[in-house]
Amino acid sequence: MEAKDKVIRLVGLDKVYQSGEDVAVHAVKGVSLEIERGDFVAIMGPSGSGKSTLMNMLGCLDRPSGGEYWLEGEQVGAFDRDRLARVRNQRLGFVFQGFNLLSRTSALENVELPMLYSPQCPPRKELRRRALAALERVGLGKRAFHHPSQLSGGQQQRVAIARALVNEPSFLLADEPTGNLDTRTSLEIMEIFQDLNDKGMTILMVTHEPDIAQYCRRQIVLRDGVIVRDERVEKPLRAGEELKRLPATDELLMGGARDTPSTAAGEG
Ligand code: ADP
Repeated sequence: MEAKDKVIRLVGLDKVYQSGEDVAVHAVKGVSLEIERGDFVAIMGPSGSGKSTLMNMLGCLDRPSGGEYWLEGEQVGAFDRDRLARVRNQRLGFVFQGFNLLSRTSALENVELPMLYSPQCPPRKELRRRALAALERVGLGKRAFHHPSQLSGGQQQRVAIARALVNEPSFLLADEPTGNLDTRTSLEIMEIFQDLNDKGMTILMVTHEPDIAQYCRRQIVLRDGVIVRDERVEKPLRAGEELKRLPATDELLMGGARDTPSTAAGEG
């Protein structure tokens, strides 16, 4: 495999937090890891094992204390803050547990935002076209002018995924993306991730839910700042299949009025 097929390469990555004069917390300890384009990785581990610290470094939100972080052949671990901010905006897509949408603007405007902050901000019409295309990819084309408060939790998370996709990132970084969602909605979100991954998107997802990690292609477990397990999932579950098996109690309760797409590509 050529170097360009490796989206991420970590070599002996370290993070030490200096919290007092002589109190240091070694949160990530010499982590080495390669992630190939098109992989779908679950990062797991108990609380305090270093997941957030590792995610913050992968997301260029924080710099390592030691070791190397290569992103598509560039050592971004050594970049200064300004360059890191550019990498974050232009090459990474973030999805959070709490969606982090702006409440006073439409779904469409939320999705346009990362492009507005980009130095290559396209003209107005193109901005709109790209944002709409991203919303269509997550099945929300018809909800473009709704505000977050007019959308369900699952739909809000889909807007957040569209926003993460809009700058065509090198990979998606998702932090407990299903943590605030019920079972059915979690599966709908996993179906979207699997659909994007099938089309080649590289995805890294922190989750503490083993059930959710079964939809990923690879599972990495951290403990005390080191990787204690790194395994391929032989046959990841398909979220679309699992959704069909779920009893449709909520549809019955709501008189069948619940607004869910039958596929990730469908209109929601
Ligand atoms: P997880 O996300 O798996 O719960 P974290 O990455 O948040 O783990 O934390 C790993 C370790 O680093 C923990 O011991 C935590 O207390 C410590 N830690 C995290 N952030 C900081 C910080 N800003 N300053 C000092 N210690 C920290």
